Amino acid sequence: MPILPRIMPDESQFVPEWPYVVGAPIALLCLIALLVLWFRRRSILDLFLMVVLCAYLIEIPPHYYPSPARFSTGWYAVRVTSLISSSIVLVVLLYEITALYRGLLDAVLREGRERDARLMTGDAVAATVAHEMRQPLTAMVTTADAGFRFLDRSVPNLDRAKEAFRRIAADGHRAGAVVESIRMNLRIDARNWTSLDVDELIRGALDLERRDLKKHQILVHIEPHGQLPEVRANQVQLQQVILNLIMNAVDAMMSTDGPRILSVRSEPYEGDLVMVSVADTGSGISDQNVDRLFNPLFTTKSDGMGMGLSICRAIIEAHNGRLWFAPNIPRGAVFQFTLHTNNSLSAGT
Ligand code: ADP
Repeated sequence: MPILPRIMPDESQFVPEWPYVVGAPIALLCLIALLVLWFRRRSILDLFLMVVLCAYLIEIPPHYYPSPARFSTGWYAVRVTSLISSSIVLVVLLYEITALYRGLLDAVLREGRERDARLMTGDAVAATVAHEMRQPLTAMVTTADAGFRFLDRSVPNLDRAKEAFRRIAADGHRAGAVVESIRMNLRIDARNWTSLDVDELIRGALDLERRDLKKHQILVHIEPHGQLPEVRANQVQLQQVILNLIMNAVDAMMSTDGPRILSVRSEPYEGDLVMVSVADTGSGISDQNVDRLFNPLFTTKSDGMGMGLSICRAIIEAHNGRLWFAPNIPRGAVFQFTLHTNNSLSAGT
């Protein structure tokens, strides 16, 4: 190309002006790139690009040693340093990408673990209750059968029957004590209470359930108040309550036709309380079940334990709040609970 300056008279020699027509523009470009990276440095990769640019700048003078020619000592030195510097960028790039993927994987696994931990807290309490209650309940049923047999005889044995009923009453009190001790355990956790943003907890719980919500094509409608004062509560227990109510709502809606809408809302209540409502458009609760909804072991699900709502109520009551049910209009259920705000608790102490 006649318009471009000639920089190589033959295959190995460079012209004497080579440093000005090639070396200087490359050095200038490297300096500009270095400055841009210096001011806009954001990642480790940028830092290593700067290292490579510095190496590139250092490479330029050896091109003239011992003379500006190909296959000279300087020329070979430059090739080697080029190889090293480009390898550095490649290794750093690979390291950065691996670290990014590792971070992503950690986040996904952490999310799964968090969800399991929350569900496990409920499962663990449910399993404890089921285990502790089984013995007195079985004893009550057996003793009641024996009591009937004593009364069914042609000459009823009233003394043995009375003894059987006394044992049933004692077992009943024992079962009550088990429930009370679990409630006390929840109460003791008051030492772990922290200030919590209810809206954030709701978002967290919905996030953990998003796969199920998507799978069952449930539309989520969140109405965070936005300006609510923080509440004082045990974070894991409170999130478990919200999660449980959401999961029950999903269960109630997944077999119904028509719009499936889950509405979760937070608002101030009676001055210094916060109220959270979880409403669904599911099957709703029939009149005859309303009174036993919160009873331990009440369930209408084939795989249910019937402990979720009673544990939720125990948790909310342990936080000095209330949890109740109301029918949703036109169909479905609304579960609402209240909690004390940080301000009301500090005013009360
Ligand atoms: P489980 O989910 O193991 O059955 P729960 O104590 O959480 O235990 O719920 C008890 C019962 O209350 C459920 O079996 C179901 O019949 C009823 N229930 C709870 N939440 C809802 C809801 N949102 N809609 C309709 N029924 C519900």
